[in-house]
Amino acid sequence: MAATNEASPKKAPAFYKSEDEVRALLTNDAFKKFCKKKCGECGAPAFKKFAKVSPLVVRAQVGSFWCASCGRLLCDAHRNQHTCEKEDAERARKRNQNVAQVRESLRREAAAKEAADAEAAAAKRAADDKKAAIFHMWKDRRKHAAGVSTTIANMVQRWAVQAPSGRAQDELLELYTSCNRINLRLWNEVSQPTLPGAVDDEAYDRLVANYDRARDLTGLVIVVDGQPLDTHLPWRPRPPPPDDAAAAGDGGP
Ligand SMILES: [Zn+2]
Ligand SMILES: [Zn+2]
Repeated sequence: MAATNEASPKKAPAFYKSEDEVRALLTNDAFKKFCKKKCGECGAPAFKKFAKVSPLVVRAQVGSFWCASCGRLLCDAHRNQHTCEKEDAERARKRNQNVAQVRESLRREAAAKEAADAEAAAAKRAADDKKAAIFHMWKDRRKHAAGVSTTIANMVQRWAVQAPSGRAQDELLELYTSCNRINLRLWNEVSQPTLPGAVDDEAYDRLVANYDRARDLTGLVIVVDGQPLDTHLPWRPRPPPPDDAAAAGDGGP
């Protein structure tokens, strides 16, 4: 056995599975043989230093030259620095476990990110839809206001043209000019809104005031589908019930 080890020091070392197996090498009979044993790592004679020591003393130091994990006998240089299958396997196991854990946590992170992205996209879509709905609602409202202003501007123009010349006609022409300007303004707000979330209330209120004045001057009222034109904007709160003056206006043409 000694010969084979010397011929190829790197040949598979002997493994001693238990401390008892090692102790069995340390009997008086076997001790000389033990002292010639090679290091399980480098193959060099490992125990020359014990040749002159009592086996009893060496038996007390088993841990200093034997690796309980893999079972190798080892020289001083390699006791704590050898190719230990058990420790390597343990390290590999931990490494694999770590890799698996890292993979798993990456997978979870990716899944969580995907879910969060989908949620954010859905929220954005909902917000966009809501924004679009609000935009269209106000566009419809601006169209409604502009439609009323066209009806009023056209009728006030007719009243002005048909009125007998005099101060009343002059004022009706002025009212028409104002109504016409407001009408253009309100239609511009439909096609190119400067107030995308509103109706130009100030312009609309001036329009209604013009119409009220024109009614006062002519004693006429605009009728749409058999009903007096309703200048109230439906999304605004209703004003208090009309007074007598409004009722009197109904006696129109
Ligand atoms: Zn060694
Ligand atoms: Zn070992």
